[in-house]
Amino acid sequence: MARIALAGFLHETNTFAQQRTDMAAFLTAGAWPGLVQGQAVFDVIGGNIATSGFIKTATAYGHELLPLLWTSANPSGLVTQSAFEKIWSLLAHELEQALPIDALFLDLHGAMVAEHVEDGEGELLARIRAIIGNHIPIVVALDFHANISPRMVALSDALSVYRTYPHVDMADTGSRAAVLLQRLLAGERLHKAYRQLPFLIPLVWQCTLIEPLASLMQMVEQQERGCQVSAMIVPGFSLADIYDCGPTVLAYGTDRAATEAVAQRLYDAMLAQRAQFNGQLYSSQQAVSHALVSMSDGLVILADTQDNPGGGAAGNTTDILRELLHQGAPDACIGLLCDPAAAAAAHAAGVGATVELALGLPPVMGRYTVEALGHGQFTGTGPFYLGCRMSLGPMARLRLEGVQIVVSSRKQQAADQAMFRHLGIEPAQQRILVLKSSVHFRADFGPLAQEILIVAAPGGENIADLTQLHYQKLRPGVSVG
Ligand SMILES: [Zn+2]
Repeated sequence: MARIALAGFLHETNTFAQQRTDMAAFLTAGAWPGLVQGQAVFDVIGGNIATSGFIKTATAYGHELLPLLWTSANPSGLVTQSAFEKIWSLLAHELEQALPIDALFLDLHGAMVAEHVEDGEGELLARIRAIIGNHIPIVVALDFHANISPRMVALSDALSVYRTYPHVDMADTGSRAAVLLQRLLAGERLHKAYRQLPFLIPLVWQCTLIEPLASLMQMVEQQERGCQVSAMIVPGFSLADIYDCGPTVLAYGTDRAATEAVAQRLYDAMLAQRAQFNGQLYSSQQAVSHALVSMSDGLVILADTQDNPGGGAAGNTTDILRELLHQGAPDACIGLLCDPAAAAAAHAAGVGATVELALGLPPVMGRYTVEALGHGQFTGTGPFYLGCRMSLGPMARLRLEGVQIVVSSRKQQAADQAMFRHLGIEPAQQRILVLKSSVHFRADFGPLAQEILIVAAPGGENIADLTQLHYQKLRPGVSVG
């Protein structure tokens, strides 16, 4: 039995987004819990989160677990220096109290950038190593959107990365981390093979349900078979203007040559597919026109990818709403649009009332009917948010002409049907559904849709066409287009 400390500090930083990520963002619960310390971590962590998978598997091995701290914030702009340092000081204090330990598990995202630190996870690992030394094993669970730096690889003993996007295997990734740690505790020495690829992949084309990643992720599993190598393809988070932005390939195994060979084959396969990380983007006008024709065949989903809060956007833009009204859509539904003032006005007016509102950005003025109200507390039911206790603040279902809008007070990616059912909307019965999400919505909504259109509506900060962005800090040789 080993004494294993565990901690979580997760943020996906869109360095192009305006809104900084401050301490309040880490303290506040959204889809995931707010900041918790010590034993309280056990009370709030559950469902599809890497830490919960790690706890389950490491407990089954019979280890003693010492939770230090767990916190995350919704994707946004740079983490403030004060938030990073405050959370680090809490974590360092808990870690020092927990010593001596035999191992450490970290639940990190892998794409955190702070005002003063470009490689958030590399910096955390360096500070942790300064406390516990170089001989205590550290395993880390990371998001599929991790920008994995050489420093992160060097300072950890093994990384375990999600294999799906939509991320339906977050808890499983924690379990795989526990298995890797078990091998390290048993005395195995794992060689690390690591490659950085010389291009960036837009988020919408990183989905593992579609090509080319559907086949590439199958290849990862084929490569692992029978050789005791743990391999991963990591597409990275492209909305980060940092040196180590971009996809990577990793492999861990006891046989150095076999491990390097697996990594090289995956690297070559990624390079060969480079031009295939691509697809059609619609304007709002094109998407609404198309949907109005094809909705007679069944539900059409418009993915408002550029305003996806899951990629750091604000979740409040209105270009598609405006277009639906302009084209006279008879039956459409949009969610989630984050506008706390509109939600408050709807709650003050009550169900059945009409309220004069300037909704979202740029504001759409009108007399909206309040059709339903909600407190924003409910539990995720789809494969991605399964078991997450949502805390989205006051919510309202508003109607303007043929469009229903689901308004929340806190931004959250529209990736779970429970967000709509909370306000009495059954997604399967809609004809046009606009979701502020890039890919995660596919896990719960994909099976309902006869057609999915990816819309690049203006105003959002989760840019789909990376050539529109002005990168300044990428490594030499990394291409954007
Ligand atoms: Zn992710």
